[in-house]
Amino acid sequence: MSAYPFSNLPARLAALVLVCPERGCWIWQGATSGRGRGGGYGRVKWDGVTQAVHKVVWRIAGRRPLRRGEQLDHECRVRACCNPAHLKPMYQPKNMRLAYARRRAAFRAEAVQ
Ligand SMILES: [Zn+2]
Repeated sequence: MSAYPFSNLPARLAALVLVCPERGCWIWQGATSGRGRGGGYGRVKWDGVTQAVHKVVWRIAGRRPLRRGEQLDHECRVRACCNPAHLKPMYQPKNMRLAYARRRAAFRAEAVQ
């Protein structure tokens, strides 16, 4: 699958995205879903509906539609990132198990410091 170039991103979105030169993340600078649980994801009004920025970009980039029960997982772990190359469709339970495993790993990492 060819990478979707940042220069193809619609100007209204690109104006609110900061490209991270080290990791290639497209960091959303606009509104987010807040700081709580499920927070930190970019939000934008697109096609008249407020929705997750990474899903909007996923569609604009021409990636395949998500199947029922699928979510886009951020392989870079940066929730505000909307680079389609960093996103991977994943069924929710696995996504949640991964998140749980990562939290456990982070907790253990904290505990040994
Ligand atoms: Zn990223």
